[in-house]
Amino acid sequence: MKAAPFDYVRASSVEMAVDALRDGAVALAGGQSLIPLLNARARRPAVVVDVSRLPLAGVEQVGSTLVLGAMTRLRAAETSPVVRRAVPLLAEALTHVGHVSVRNRGTVGGSVAHADPAAELPAVLLALDAVFSVRGRGGTREVDARDFFRGPHRTALAADELLTGIRVPLPPATARCGIAELSRRPHDLAITAVFTSVVLTGRVVTDVRIAVAGAAPVPLRAHAAEHVLRGEVFGPDVLAAAAEAAADATDPIDDVHAPAAYRRDMTAVLTRRALRQAVPA
Ligand SMILES: Cc1cc2nc3c(=O)[nH]c(=O)nc-3n(C[C@H](O)[C@H](O)[C@H](O)COP(=O)(O)OP(=O)(O)OC[C@H]3O[C@@H](n4cnc5c(N)ncnc54)[C@H](O)[C@@H]3O)c2cc1C
Repeated sequence: MKAAPFDYVRASSVEMAVDALRDGAVALAGGQSLIPLLNARARRPAVVVDVSRLPLAGVEQVGSTLVLGAMTRLRAAETSPVVRRAVPLLAEALTHVGHVSVRNRGTVGGSVAHADPAAELPAVLLALDAVFSVRGRGGTREVDARDFFRGPHRTALAADELLTGIRVPLPPATARCGIAELSRRPHDLAITAVFTSVVLTGRVVTDVRIAVAGAAPVPLRAHAAEHVLRGEVFGPDVLAAAAEAAADATDPIDDVHAPAAYRRDMTAVLTRRALRQAVPA
């Protein structure tokens, strides 16, 4: 199928993009999600605003923060030496997003704005306490990841706002990470996936982050599971309790990919696996 007719605007500045994002217009970044939706006529915008050439691509460490421009290609972020060194959980999570060809075109901003509940990047950014920079006609505002995702493909972005950047506080150098993902085929969207970061002092858990994709209408931060682990000696009993707490936090749906009960059960299994990957026995 071909897309319904639309007007095309190539934005040459952020101001121009924001100004053009009105009256049913939609931003086009890497097109890896939007183009299939246009072609399926699942979206019929009057205007497509091409933001892919805006000077918003780049990765840098600024003090204790990793700063990613929204137009940074997923593959560029994944292979960035800065990301790999400073936030290995993010670099590793990005390797799970589609195929290399998808990551070569898709952007970090596009993946976040698309807000697929099963997507890796929103969940891992939630685990990392990322902050999103959003530009509208009234100026720039900052939105914490925990307040950004509102529902399947729904975010705190207004229709005329552009996501311009992502800031990630650097985790401690001693943080160990683990990712466990269930998908039908390698590089398919996750049925369910769990992202963990663990800091130990001796064997005691002093910091832990657990986020789950594909188990609720939005990416989930498993706070109760983190609470179970924090301050405890890392071991099988506490691990099992945390895995159950993560599963209890889910609000999964039945769909063609998996029944809700399966996603819930797999959240427990994947939480255990991800934590074990972070801290092998
Ligand atoms: C074969 C295939 C496999 C895939 N597998 C996965 C997978 O395993 N995991 C996964 O997470 N994703 C997967 N995807 C989806 C895809 O990787 C991401 O959703 C995509 O990269 C989004 O980024 P984009 O730059 O292509 O966004 P686009 O497709 O251009 O845009 C997506 C949406 O975000 C909006 N948008 C884009 N940029 C901005 C911005 N800066 N500000 C405001 N709104 C914006 C657009 O208006 C649109 O609504 C897959 C896609 C394909 C085609």
